[in-house]
Amino acid sequence: MQNEKIPYKIYLSENEMPKAWYNLRADMKQKPAPLLNPGTQQPMTAEELSGVFCEELVKQELDDTTAFFQIPEEIRSFYKMYRPSPLVRAYCLEEKLDTPAKIYYKFEGNNTSGSHKLNSAIAQAYYAKKQGLKGVTTETGAGQWGTALSMACAYLGLDCKVYMVKCSYEQKPFRREVMRTYGASVTPSPSMDTQVGRKILAEHPGTTGSLGCAISEAVETAVGSEGYRYVLGSVLNQVMLHQSVIGLEAKAALDKYGVKPDMIIGCAGGGSNLGGLIAPFMGQKLRGEADYRFIAVEPASCPSFTRGVYAYDFCDTGMVCPLAKMYTLGSGFIPSANHAGGLRYHGMSSTLSELYHQGLMEATSVKQTEVFEAAEYFARVEGILPAPESSHAIRVAIDEAMKCKETGEEKTILFGLTGTGYFDMVAYEKFHDGQMEDYIPTDAELEQYRNTLPKIG
Ligand SMILES: *Cc1c(COP(=O)(O)O)cnc(C)c1O
Repeated sequence: MQNEKIPYKIYLSENEMPKAWYNLRADMKQKPAPLLNPGTQQPMTAEELSGVFCEELVKQELDDTTAFFQIPEEIRSFYKMYRPSPLVRAYCLEEKLDTPAKIYYKFEGNNTSGSHKLNSAIAQAYYAKKQGLKGVTTETGAGQWGTALSMACAYLGLDCKVYMVKCSYEQKPFRREVMRTYGASVTPSPSMDTQVGRKILAEHPGTTGSLGCAISEAVETAVGSEGYRYVLGSVLNQVMLHQSVIGLEAKAALDKYGVKPDMIIGCAGGGSNLGGLIAPFMGQKLRGEADYRFIAVEPASCPSFTRGVYAYDFCDTGMVCPLAKMYTLGSGFIPSANHAGGLRYHGMSSTLSELYHQGLMEATSVKQTEVFEAAEYFARVEGILPAPESSHAIRVAIDEAMKCKETGEEKTILFGLTGTGYFDMVAYEKFHDGQMEDYIPTDAELEQYRNTLPKIG
């Protein structure tokens, strides 16, 4: 290994940082299905969307032909505070596993918010600021997105209102305080502040909330407050566009050393990090220039790809958002309360859904105890304390490396290490105390939510 000359960490210089985001949809022959107006069932127009979203972001959302969007200089200078992010050759992990596989990971946890979400947060806050808005509203589940957006808004002097899923609000007081440190206001959701919140509380008084519900509250607040728009941390095309910076950097770093991965693995919640990581590689595959295996990893307790259906669905519980065609479990689906591993959203990026539907990528699901085993193993070997979400990818990367050990194949594996897990220690504690359980929804349970899908056409 010593004589391979590939450093433990491959850094790019500031000048090598991407100057444009890559829009994977431009290279897709069969485009992802458009967002639909839930009332008319017609594709959402830019005008309709701009009541909720910032204008420039609406353009990015609807554009499936422009391959490259220049990254504004202001955003690039913000990126320089924590990018280019390192691409790590996991020599220690390879040695410990005693595998012939070569393992690389792209680490996105080296900023204070602790995840890749800052890549899109700063872009979305920038366009809101440029449009002359006062502030933005959003939801947050585990809290990474809310934290990232708070940082970005503080930097640009924008107001930031965050609806935080109630169980996280209570279980993660430190996360909440980080957001407040950056000046955001944080409201537990469902709340009495919005019509939709009051309705949900009346129907389900004891509810601990869900992402879908917090989205509805954030959208309602944005639409009802002058000078505010709503921003979202995953699922949408614009978010995947901004996250392409992950894949572009990873590819540039690998290209420097002439390394071509055989498989690229990422965890999938709403699909933004995975979509960003695979973007330039998938682009090559779509153009017929190279082939790779792409593997999406999701929790067995929230299995949108592996057990969901490909259909139009609501993006939120209150059914105020546009309809998106995606792999979904139904907008009423809420993962079991003992699920601690993140990636709890009921749907999936419509771009990734279309690629998966065409058989261009694979998906697999893993149980949370196996995820935390991998997380702990990784922390002890590579030093980084991974986020539970990221650890889904670690799990499958380790499994694939072990398959190589059996077959003797020297495969090259690239996976996305999306963030750090310092705010997830309650989940780690459960795991260490042997109190973590695996919950896998039954077919009958999933069927029940599937029945709530809207009827289209
Ligand atoms: C939010 C988050 C994810 C999942 O979101 P995607 O949009 O699917 O990328 C994964 N890892 C971390 C650390 C996160 O914060």
